[in-house]
Amino acid sequence: MDSITPLSFSGIDPRKPLIIAGPCSAESERQIMDTATQLAAAGIKIFRAGIWKPRTKPGGFEGVGQDGLEWLRKVREHTGMFTATEVANRLHTQQAIEAGVDILWIGARTSANPFAMQEIADTLQQVNPENLTVLVKNPVNPDIELWVGALQRIYNAGVRRIGAIHRGFSTYGKHLYRNVPQWHIPIELRLRYPNLPIICDPSHIGGKRELIAPLSQQAFDMGFNGLIVESHCDPDCALSDASQQVTPEILNFILNTLVIRDSRQTTESLTLLRQQIDRIDNELLEILSRRMGVSRDIGRYKKEHRMPVVQAGRYNDIIRSRVKLGEEMGMGQEFMKTILLAIHDESVRQQIEIINDRAQ
Ligand code: PEP
Ligand code: MN
Repeated sequence: MDSITPLSFSGIDPRKPLIIAGPCSAESERQIMDTATQLAAAGIKIFRAGIWKPRTKPGGFEGVGQDGLEWLRKVREHTGMFTATEVANRLHTQQAIEAGVDILWIGARTSANPFAMQEIADTLQQVNPENLTVLVKNPVNPDIELWVGALQRIYNAGVRRIGAIHRGFSTYGKHLYRNVPQWHIPIELRLRYPNLPIICDPSHIGGKRELIAPLSQQAFDMGFNGLIVESHCDPDCALSDASQQVTPEILNFILNTLVIRDSRQTTESLTLLRQQIDRIDNELLEILSRRMGVSRDIGRYKKEHRMPVVQAGRYNDIIRSRVKLGEEMGMGQEFMKTILLAIHDESVRQQIEIINDRAQ
């Protein structure tokens, strides 16, 4: 992907982060026009709205379909904003292009599916509209190759105005985030393709209004090129993703509080690598602390059943299999042993605390 073209739009300062905002879903002409007018008044130049909505379960609001395209056309006409919508198949792509939508984005469920990606790419290749921009969200699972593959399919179809969107990754269980961000993945993408614009979607990462501002700041601090944020004229009544949408007024306030840093210094690659190390270390610590939590649960179980803390067979198995795995992953035997023994010692210490009733 050597000839990616910068995402320039007439009337938008290319030195500033690209801001795309609008409701999760187009619900009615009135909702679209009200939201768009307010966003335009707040200086937003690119309007997003989902028309075909991929819902996890049946029975949710699945979008207004083609009717919404006419509303987007009106937004363009009345506010001068560029428009963006999600496409997931051939028909969506054809219809959105015919309706003059400026930016197509591909959702996380679609970018995880190479068949759907190829179908969209083939459609784009047939039409090949010159000024069309295509943004590809990361797939739901944290697989950089799948994300790169999705981007390559679009690029190979002849589209040069492309960009990536980090919207976090699905995980099992409850988390602070709706879709956990794994910043090292977009950073790796940046290292591989320095010219590829990367945009952050704090709405789908956080899933909560109050996380939009800190996530957006984090994205800017890490050199992201823009944001795509969900904004609705009446967020509490939104038919989809109500808890993560903000009014245009609040969005404007948030955007004004964000600090945009100058990332043009010569040590950019080094900074990115260091940021990558910081993130990975944080992840390591988080994983270690989760492991200690499970150890304490085991301690409680052993206490209840009057079992000894250390069971030699299990201990030896753990060390042997993990050292081998570590070696296969390119790490030295001594290093693996030291790390594993240290982790094991701390687990034992925590379990003994539990057994002696010194911890909960
Ligand atoms: C959306 O942007 O409304 C959307 C459905 O996003 P994602 O594909 O990230 O879930
Ligand atoms: Mn949404």
